[in-house]
Amino acid sequence: MYLSSISVENIRNLTKKTLNLSNGINVLYGKNAQGKTNLLEAVYFAAMGRSHRTNIYKELIAFGKREAFISCEIKGEFADSTINVRIQKEKKEIAVNGNVIKKLVELFGTMLIVIFSPEDLELVTAGPRVRRKFIDLNLCQIHPLYYHQLNKYHHILNQRNNLLKDIKKNKQSSETIFLWDSQLVECGIKIIDYRAKYINSLNDIAKNFHNKLTDNKENLKIIYRPNTDTDNYGQLMESSLDRDIYLGSTSVGIHKDDMGISVNNIDVRSYGSQGQKRSVSLSLKLSGIEYIKNKESPPIVLLDDVLSELDESRQMFLLKEIQGLQTILTCTGVEDVLVRIGDNVNIAKYEVKEGVINGKY
Ligand code: ATP
Ligand code: MG
Repeated sequence: MYLSSISVENIRNLTKKTLNLSNGINVLYGKNAQGKTNLLEAVYFAAMGRSHRTNIYKELIAFGKREAFISCEIKGEFADSTINVRIQKEKKEIAVNGNVIKKLVELFGTMLIVIFSPEDLELVTAGPRVRRKFIDLNLCQIHPLYYHQLNKYHHILNQRNNLLKDIKKNKQSSETIFLWDSQLVECGIKIIDYRAKYINSLNDIAKNFHNKLTDNKENLKIIYRPNTDTDNYGQLMESSLDRDIYLGSTSVGIHKDDMGISVNNIDVRSYGSQGQKRSVSLSLKLSGIEYIKNKESPPIVLLDDVLSELDESRQMFLLKEIQGLQTILTCTGVEDVLVRIGDNVNIAKYEVKEGVINGKY
């Protein structure tokens, strides 16, 4: 699939614009703080119903305006689709093919995307939350039921955490907590199952990418590190209740899961060099793209200023591996990027200056 056109109105500093895009590589270039990432954010919002930069969606509305709009036209292998987003201070409304959706699951998959920002190169170094986000982003797009379970889990988790705080203040007895626990365990077990299978598949793909990237010198292995196992989930929650009441939050469960990453059987997070960690992050990101491609259809790749963060050989590796996928990338030094891309692909160039996007396709 590819995004054939996007229209934005009142999105951050961007001037109202309809942009026709190439199904090859689209380069958005310009100086800092001109609005390049704002456009990628609009694409991401239309695909995922949220921003990749903030949880406060009203921040996307241009200063002084009441509402903002994003419209996307997507050309699919078999059918075309449209996504229309309207963001207001108090609510967001998303329509897929003209029908307003009630739940985000109805949106997922309409426009498959993978976003790659400089922070993603820190996937290995960062904390477990970042790796969970990486896992969740792909699983949500491919498996709507996964999103449903995850959403339900976090909803119940919030309620349990509130109750824990009330118990601590003696406002509530601890008896009702077990009602929440059994629901968390039920959802949690399903999520563990999805994550285990996903990480297993990703491991096979990532191993190949990393072999190619390192001339077979590094053997990459990723494993799922669930915070709890499915057999003892309930007991572990029960036995940590006193600690949870003391902390006012839940210490056991899938919201604490992580991924173990090793190269040549050595833990990369603890012992890897900086360059090694970045290469592994790149292999993992590319594997995520490949997974979506295999399971569903080729995703749209959003590269936010990521090329300038990589050395020449890694840049070439990345560009080669995403060949054939529609890509929207941002950069400041356009000439360097064009040299890397070469002129054998469908390239569209757009300059972004003070929120005005110029260029045609
Ligand atoms: P860089 O190369 O540094 O990443 P960029 O071109 O990606 O720059 P963006 O992050 O897209 O920059 O745009 C930043 C600009 O958008 C800033 O000038 C900021 O003030 C402006 N901006 C952010 N939110 C809003 C908003 N709600 N209304 C108006 N302008 C906004
Ligand atoms: Mg930017």
